[in-house]
Amino acid sequence: MSNRGRLFVISGPAGAGKSEIVKTVLKRHPDVKLSVSCTTRAPRPGEENGVSYHFVTDERFDALVAENAFYEWAHVHQNRYGTLKSVVRQELDAGHDLILEIDVQGCLQAMAQDPTVTGIFVCPPSRENLEARLRNRGTETEEAIRVRLGNVAKECATAYQYHYIIIHQDWSVVPDALEIAAEEVYSIITARRRELDANREFLDKLNASLNA
Ligand code: 5GP
Repeated sequence: MSNRGRLFVISGPAGAGKSEIVKTVLKRHPDVKLSVSCTTRAPRPGEENGVSYHFVTDERFDALVAENAFYEWAHVHQNRYGTLKSVVRQELDAGHDLILEIDVQGCLQAMAQDPTVTGIFVCPPSRENLEARLRNRGTETEEAIRVRLGNVAKECATAYQYHYIIIHQDWSVVPDALEIAAEEVYSIITARRRELDANREFLDKLNASLNA
């Protein structure tokens, strides 16, 4: 089925800028869609139900797990997050390429259960860069920064299991680092669209007409 959409899972440590990269891809390329997840965490100011997330109670999340409604789900920072199978099916059937911006556990689950899923990992350019970003926020204690760096180390160790690595450069060194990273993500999406298997139906028709 050549007109079916493809699934892209994007992860990377907090502070590497994956949300900004995904937002930039969506803004520039309306042909790419983002899946809206379910979460048990409370909405933050400005977050709208059904837009940022589907905000659900613990009981509702339990029921969705019991119904096997999730494509993947995971515990992240004391809350649960999950991608609905119905959302994935609907978007892919409509021919949309779909991004899931989810945590590392969710990405590894998705890639393990479906070999057609493309995994993209967003990295900071260096430890020094990440540490400087965390310190510059000025909101974290030394202990909190140490814990965060430990978590980043664990996440980056899983990067070998993805298909593509995006290095989000430091904007003070590369001023359009965000745009470059977003275009790299989009180029991965377009490369997958141009794969032979995605174009067999077109080629069959073209060759049939040329041989008629
Ligand atoms: P936040 O609460 O800051 O919006 O997100 C916290 C973390 O949960 C982020 O790493 C985000 O990528 C991840 N996340 C969001 N939605 C999902 C989902 O549906 N599944 C999984 N596994 N992780 C998610």
